[in-house]
Amino acid sequence: MVLRGAVQGVGFRPMVYRLAEKLCLAGWVRNSSAGLEIEVEGSSEQLDHFLHLLKAERPQSAVVTSEEVSRVAPAGFIWFEILPSDENAAKSAAVLPDLATCPECLREMLDPDDRRSGYAFTNCTLCGPRYSILLDIPYDRPKTTMRCFVLCPACLQEYESPHDRRFHAQPNACPTCGPRLWSVPGQAEGASAVAHAVEALAQGEVVALKGVGGFHLLVDARNPIAVKRLRERKHREEKPFALLMPSLACARQYCTVSAAEEGMLVSSAAPIVLLQPQGGGDLAPEVAKSSPYLGVMLPYSPLHHLLMAQYPFPVVATSGNRADEPIAIENEEACERLKDIADVFVLHDRPIARSCDDSVVRISGGSPQILRRARGYAPLPVVTPHDLPRVLAVGGHLKNTVAIALGRQVFLSQHMGDLDTVESRQAFERAIEDLCRLYRFDPDLVACDLHPDYASTQWALASGLPIVQVQHHYAHVAACAAENGIETNYLGVAWDGTGFGLDGTIWGSEFFVASPSGFERIAHLRSFRLPGGEAAIRDCSRSAASMVWETFGPGGAGIAFDVNIRVMLEGRINSPQSSSIGRLFDAVAYLTGVADQNRFEGQAAMRLESAIGSIRTNESYEIENQNGIGDWAPLIEALLSDRKADLDLGRIATKFHNALANWIGAVADTTDVRDVVLSGGVFQNAYLTARASALLEEHGFRVFTHHQVPANDGGISLGQAVLAGAFES
Ligand SMILES: [Zn+2]
Ligand SMILES: [Zn+2]
Ligand SMILES: [Zn+2]
Repeated sequence: MVLRGAVQGVGFRPMVYRLAEKLCLAGWVRNSSAGLEIEVEGSSEQLDHFLHLLKAERPQSAVVTSEEVSRVAPAGFIWFEILPSDENAAKSAAVLPDLATCPECLREMLDPDDRRSGYAFTNCTLCGPRYSILLDIPYDRPKTTMRCFVLCPACLQEYESPHDRRFHAQPNACPTCGPRLWSVPGQAEGASAVAHAVEALAQGEVVALKGVGGFHLLVDARNPIAVKRLRERKHREEKPFALLMPSLACARQYCTVSAAEEGMLVSSAAPIVLLQPQGGGDLAPEVAKSSPYLGVMLPYSPLHHLLMAQYPFPVVATSGNRADEPIAIENEEACERLKDIADVFVLHDRPIARSCDDSVVRISGGSPQILRRARGYAPLPVVTPHDLPRVLAVGGHLKNTVAIALGRQVFLSQHMGDLDTVESRQAFERAIEDLCRLYRFDPDLVACDLHPDYASTQWALASGLPIVQVQHHYAHVAACAAENGIETNYLGVAWDGTGFGLDGTIWGSEFFVASPSGFERIAHLRSFRLPGGEAAIRDCSRSAASMVWETFGPGGAGIAFDVNIRVMLEGRINSPQSSSIGRLFDAVAYLTGVADQNRFEGQAAMRLESAIGSIRTNESYEIENQNGIGDWAPLIEALLSDRKADLDLGRIATKFHNALANWIGAVADTTDVRDVVLSGGVFQNAYLTARASALLEEHGFRVFTHHQVPANDGGISLGQAVLAGAFES
């Protein structure tokens, strides 16, 4: 039988070995490039028993995407053995993401009598680095960055014993034979290096720490001067910092943590989870001044555990880079690039094969929503309903990811970030090269966005391969449809900040009746001008001025806007047309006084959502739906009169969100489809998504949202891969 999916490096072979031994079955098991292959001989009763237990006792972190069982003539095996990996088959085995330290390894590290006491690279088949040390497939030690460490006799014995937890644990290591830790300046080693970092944190210094997928920059989150210093040195104005907290109990001290949120925090992916802060803590306000949430993660590597055991306080843990650059992974590179940011470096000699940022997850309506998909998730595949041709999808421009389609599996790269800098574009090219090399993938086709200025589009055009340009919002909804296995016509609602439309204007409030073979744009917002173009993405007053100007005429309801903005609007100078919901959020945030700037993407919308607080009402503004054009003018008018009457901000924000949900319901009612797909960054808004979903379900629709890839542009590459495939076949 053949098991496909993430089945290598999770202790599957020893588990099969022990099972076969227990049931007295002969045969073999091996890792192949397709996944895991097993051949067993025995009576049909024994074999049924084997299959049953194989399912029941499967290793926790294994992700089986398909199972093929076939009967073959008995070969007369005498015993059961684990064969060397077969490398000839197609390279389609899923590689496992990096897994957080398991309780057993943690216990050993903290046990003063254990031979791995205090050892920062402890791992086993249930935990430890995977994707970040992988050089090639199949996943075997010589094909990982652990190949330069020769196992000592004690580790080798563990590695070779099918009864040991470390049987074929590829990154297996101990203080005698494995990677070592040191700090700079001063070259303190091992435990002293950790102590050095602790001392630096206590003194308010910035520590650069080499983690699993790259460097982190750490400061004590309770020290306002230290946090401010880090912001200044890193050139990061306001974007919230994530926190590393020593324990669940500590997270509870600062935030409310639901059962679902707790589940995410302690999962083997161990992402940053966005939590609702509880006031009154001692955190420096500069940590996340402009966000209603705190991004919190728990220690996920032995090194993080050791540090937090000695410094049991919340610590800012942000990517080791300057703003907008990719995360640093090499020792020399980090020491050079971060020399003006960090005071102390904690380094080790286990090379990182590829950078992988921390993932970010938010619980929405009780289920996890991935906002940034990287460590702990990449490169797990998304399984699509049909085989796809060999497509390389290069994604969008913001929050870029790339993807390759292999059969029914789409392998997505880790989050690469915005492609604004030379460094990030290099990282984007490295990720393409890396995925293609790992899977021996030669694309027949490249899928990209329609936007001519995206670096990813330009790369595709220059690749010399046949290309398919996929409209941005069509890719959004197709990604959501694909991960939910929808194949028939559906209503795709794609709401975001920016995407290049078929008519050359900026879209972003799309209702498509769609299928893999095409889409019809059945509704969108009435378009409006964005004075100053791109500048309107940051400055919320521009969208507000434009909508007020359109609603009330040049007199503008007595609201004063910058004279340059008025000149642009009146003269239609540098004011492209847009129908983006993101900009409607900005305008409303500005007019209610909730926010005047987006210092990071979606900031104003996030504040508007959080203004709702615990208010629950069915009151609503109205977006008039006329022949598929959603007119926001009545909404702006009603909102300003509520504002004048001093209506509570929370109520105004709620009425605005309700209007959007009602509009979705009204448009859906005009169609004859039953499935509605919600995609695009705007649906990271938990209130809107919950409200719209409930309403649609009441109207008899089935509603689908994202769970495997982000609703934001991080999911675009999946949609492109699926659609280019449909286009080709
Ligand atoms: Zn472990
Ligand atoms: Zn050893
Ligand atoms: Zn988008």
